[in-house]
Amino acid sequence: MKRPALVALDFDGVLVDSRREVLQTAISSRRELFPKSPISQSFMDDPDRLRAFENLMPLGNRAEDFGVSLVAIEQGKIPETQEEYNDFRRELGEDFLESFHVTFYETRSRSQREDLHAWIALHLPFREMLDILSRRGRDCALVLATSKDEASARHLLQSWNLGWLFPKGHIYDKEIGVRKSAHLEAILHDFRLGPSEIRFIDDKVNHLLTAAEMGIGGVLAGWGHNTLREHVLAREHGIPVADFETVEKLLFL
Ligand SMILES: [Mg+2]
Repeated sequence: MKRPALVALDFDGVLVDSRREVLQTAISSRRELFPKSPISQSFMDDPDRLRAFENLMPLGNRAEDFGVSLVAIEQGKIPETQEEYNDFRRELGEDFLESFHVTFYETRSRSQREDLHAWIALHLPFREMLDILSRRGRDCALVLATSKDEASARHLLQSWNLGWLFPKGHIYDKEIGVRKSAHLEAILHDFRLGPSEIRFIDDKVNHLLTAAEMGIGGVLAGWGHNTLREHVLAREHGIPVADFETVEKLLFL
């Protein structure tokens, strides 16, 4: 296989463990929209509910999905498969999803404005992955394909002194579209590359399946926001599951 001209990377669950920040922001948003919610910040100290939230993370995709997960846990109706999850999400309705999305990003911006350092400290960077990127960052183009907002990604990259890895125009954020295919299509178009010339790493199997349909070789970040369920699914579809030992070879060689 030829070395790639470009490596596209998902952000959360690939470069950084953002579970704490996401959960804290999601809880504040839920309480703002529905003050009677029994969910409170003490939720984060309850290992069972925390595990339930983490198990639901791979089934969602965007900010509003964290709201879906919280409501499922509140109601004790925890979906186990992607299909059950999609049904539960649909039943909550578009208004719920839209208002949660808006409130989530308002809440996050407020936290950043109030105390940026405290907000950054909620994130745990995957140092091994960042070291690989700093080493390889000049070998080929690196691009982010993320459902996060660019400003948040930039705050975090700068706090790790890695803003240089993704120059202007190299962050494809939530505004590009709902589906990862929109990000990947825009990247192929803007960099004038064919699908076989790029590689893509994500911690969600469904994004990698979308990439595979487009002819793009994908790698599952096995350290990310996924579980054994996703590792099995990825392997069933011929998608390699990387760890910090194997990821450099899988992406760059
Ligand atoms: Mg991710």
